[in-house]
Amino acid sequence: MFERWREQMVKELVIGAGIRDPRVIDAFRKVPRHLFVDPAIRSQAYSGKSLPIGYGQTISHPTTVAIMTEMLELQGDEKVLEVGTGSGYQTAILAELADRVFSVERIQALAVKARHILEGLGYYRVAITVGDGSLGWAAHAPYDRILVTAGSPAVPPALIQQLNRGGRLIIPVGDENHQILKVIEKTDSGFTEVELEAFKFVPLIGRKGWQL
Ligand code: SAH
Repeated sequence: MFERWREQMVKELVIGAGIRDPRVIDAFRKVPRHLFVDPAIRSQAYSGKSLPIGYGQTISHPTTVAIMTEMLELQGDEKVLEVGTGSGYQTAILAELADRVFSVERIQALAVKARHILEGLGYYRVAITVGDGSLGWAAHAPYDRILVTAGSPAVPPALIQQLNRGGRLIIPVGDENHQILKVIEKTDSGFTEVELEAFKFVPLIGRKGWQL
């Protein structure tokens, strides 16, 4: 049953949304999204809704996850930093497509739950820590890719510092109601920056994010 729903999600919300990278599409076919939500709402896991995961947070819409993932242009050998583990679903997608994934979540209960699910699924090249991801995760820097899954008022400087040369950072930036997706690339001579369409994300709360 879940497999059939998953295939439908891939068709409608991934391929149907314009995603073309076959590796990204495969990853969405593989990762059992229903295991990342509460058993009571598993039947909705493959719908185009953003679903509650507790603590006022939501699992990102499948299309949002797909677009951000495709924009990372992962080849398979990258070290990736994710800010905002949440349910761990995006983390699993990244783990399918990169070499190592480091993920920071500010809410301990979510981090513990995500770690448990990811371990159960055999994603051993993933590390999750509890902390303020607006400061990055310096211990494992630099990263080839950085993905922020919560909306930030500005680009946190630590994330740019922790980006490898040739690396790419994707982050939603804006106010609480409206964000654009910024794609920042670190080049030999500095940075390039591209701004993309609007999405709605939960807020990035932290020293270099929104203050509580
Ligand atoms: N990719 C996740 C998205 C969850 S929503 C998923 O699909 O499940 C974004 C997450 O960012 C929330 O879990 C929220 O608690 C977390 N977050 C917000 N501010 C943060 C910060 N400064 N550092 C780390 N995590 C943060």
